[in-house]
Amino acid sequence: MAHAEIHHDDPGAIGDLGPLAGRTVAVLGYGNQGAAQARNLRDSGVTPLVGNRNDSYAEAAADAGFAPRPIAEVAFEADVSLLLVPDEVQPDLVRDEIAPGLHAGDTLVVASGYNWYFGLLEIPDGVDVVMVAPRMIGAAVRDRYVSRAGFPCFVSVERDATGHAWETTMAVARGIGGTLGGAIVSSAREEAALDLLSEQAVWPAVLSVLRSAHAIAVDAGFSDEAVLSELYLSGEPAEVFDHIARDGLFGQLGLHSRTSQYGQLRALAAADDAALRDRFAAVLHDDILSGAFAQEWSRPEAGERLDALRREADASAIAQAEAAVRERLGS
Ligand code: NDP
Repeated sequence: MAHAEIHHDDPGAIGDLGPLAGRTVAVLGYGNQGAAQARNLRDSGVTPLVGNRNDSYAEAAADAGFAPRPIAEVAFEADVSLLLVPDEVQPDLVRDEIAPGLHAGDTLVVASGYNWYFGLLEIPDGVDVVMVAPRMIGAAVRDRYVSRAGFPCFVSVERDATGHAWETTMAVARGIGGTLGGAIVSSAREEAALDLLSEQAVWPAVLSVLRSAHAIAVDAGFSDEAVLSELYLSGEPAEVFDHIARDGLFGQLGLHSRTSQYGQLRALAAADDAALRDRFAAVLHDDILSGAFAQEWSRPEAGERLDALRREADASAIAQAEAAVRERLGS
């Protein structure tokens, strides 16, 4: 069984930010993560420069007391740059505006492993590349820093050109509040693979389960209103997942009736996981870790395929039924 190293800081005191002393820190992209991480860093005592295009995000940065400037200009000045623009735009933006401003001894901090692991970022030699990846949406990264509740965060050193990359990684993680909830030592490979495994194996399986349950229940003569309310429109699955996070996968079963518990556990004991595991393993190894998915998604025509898949999903029986039910229920 693999155990990860975890670094914790006491809620009462953000740990050592010394490795950032005398270095210019910058947040590139004042979006979901950028706005939260910039404010957290400032409250931890390290006020970052903010790089952003001149639009509503830049206005939000200015309203929060930062002085946003063009990304290329800020990247050139910074010693430690937090790359917080969407993953899809990073390869081109890094190549055209950020990499030219990175110098030997600088640090590039990514918040997700995808582009680095799949070789889509060209970073000059001599630059450290590290990952500080909150497992939390931006708004909560801010709220949980303020409340000191913390959030889990993955950290890793991907390229240690200076010999001090780990110290920088941990200082950035502390500065954004990532050690309050526990900074888990990971890697870009692990972060990207697990993210994609959830997206390409777990959630499609959940969607397929709901689609299949709807199909067979409607075939049995039950109404769309009743079936969809039972399956998800009521919001009950969201409640169950919330309790799974808080009380445990099986710990939450105590909230269900004994009839429900018996039915769930009896069916689970009889479930044959082999086919699902084989499918998930194929997704992980053949599509994800091999780089096949990343290569396919980088092709220009992939966007059109996504649009076609969206149209197909919207036209499916369950989507059509849901639209009609929502109209009738006025929800
Ligand atoms: P957002 O979509 O919120 O980022 C928007 C920011 O990127 C804005 O500042 C926007 O500014 C800027 N931006 C968008 N397009 C461009 C472009 N072409 N050129 C320059 N700037 C651009 O991103 P997130 O905060 O969601 O994600 C940032 C990173 O954090 C990603 O690596 C993501 O994987 C990671 N992450 C995100 C999480 C989340 O919950 N969202 C959780 C954990 C990690 P403008 O449009 O004004 O130029």
